[in-house]
Order: sequence, then C-alpha cells, then structure tokens
Amino acid sequence: MNIGVLALQGAFAEHLHILEKLGIDTRKVRLPEELNGLDGLIIPGGESTTIGKLSMWYDLGDAIRKFACEKAVWGTCAGMIVMAKDIGMDQPLLGIMDIVAKRNAFGRQVDSFQTDLYVPVLKDGKTKPFPAIFIRAPKLSAAGADTEIIAKLDDGTAVAAQQGKMLVTSFHPELTQDTRFHEYFVNLTK
Ligand code: GLN
Repeated sequence: MNIGVLALQGAFAEHLHILEKLGIDTRKVRLPEELNGLDGLIIPGGESTTIGKLSMWYDLGDAIRKFACEKAVWGTCAGMIVMAKDIGMDQPLLGIMDIVAKRNAFGRQVDSFQTDLYVPVLKDGKTKPFPAIFIRAPKLSAAGADTEIIAKLDDGTAVAAQQGKMLVTSFHPELTQDTRFHEYFVNLTK
C-alpha cells in the first residue's frame, strides 16, 4: 500500500503525517512518473488556482485524469475544487468528478470555523462526530447521479461526497487528530 500526496502547494505535509501515523507508505507527487505504482492520491487544501496551474505546468493533468480512472483520489478543500467538473468560473481544473463546487462559499479567512459533523460512512460515524475544520471552504452545490453526498451541515449544505473511488471533502481532516477519514480513504484504495 502506497499513497501519494500532490505536493505542489498547500497542506500536503499534514496529510503525509497522518498517513505515516497509520503505517502507510507515502510519496510526495510533483511529477507524472511519481504516480506510478501508487494505490491512491490525495490532493490537499491550499489555493486551487495555484494547485491547478502548477498541475498543468508539470504535465500532471492528463496523468492524474488517467490515474483516477482506476485508482482512488481524495481532494480536500482546494483539492475538491480542482477535482470538480464545474466551478462556475474559469481556472485550470482536473475536472474528474461529477460535482459542482462553489469557491469561498462560506466567506473569508476570518469566517473559518470548526463544527461537529456526523459522517455515517466513517467508523462510529453515526454516534461520534468528526471535527470538521472549514477554512475559506467551498460548498458542493450540485452532484451527478453517480455521486453520493456523505456529509451535510445542519442547514443541509453538502460538504463531502463520493463517486466510486473518488472522495471530496470541503473541510480539512488532515488538520485534526481524528484519523477516521484517512482510514476510510485507505480502505477505498484497496
Ligand atoms: N479558498 C481556497 C480556494 O478557493 C481553498 C481554501 C482551502 O483549501 N483551505 O482555492
């Protein structure tokens, strides 16, 4: 088992740290050939315009699209934006998941928040809430028929979804001590 984390910009070190804590072999991915032999890829939070542009510069666009046809991919926050097919504005995207995301939909940096989220697909997810940290986060404004919404805020806003082996979260599980989302993703890669 070897999981890569796209390490162009953003919170990649935190994802690597949690995966290593779970005993998973990891690799930083900056070039297309570094995807070879991986079981899954995480696209971290950060700045989606930067991650999108750098992915294109390093020729990672088609390589990740091809990778995602077979292997598991998880995007957190900016990673979710980059994975979306549509964000209602013009910026480089991988466009691999059938979702519409709206950038910065909760407001500015000062509007960042943490909330308890019940995520039934996680271990004990119906009874033990997940501490979800939102930092200038996107909302999932629409999802295709094959895509399942796996977490919602109390007001009904969709904040996590899965389509086959693809996972997106508006928030940052890598910034918490709770490893259940990473464990869930590791299982998806199998
Ligand atoms: N607001 C950022 C963007 O649109 C995402 C923020 C984050 O990843 N925490 O790209």
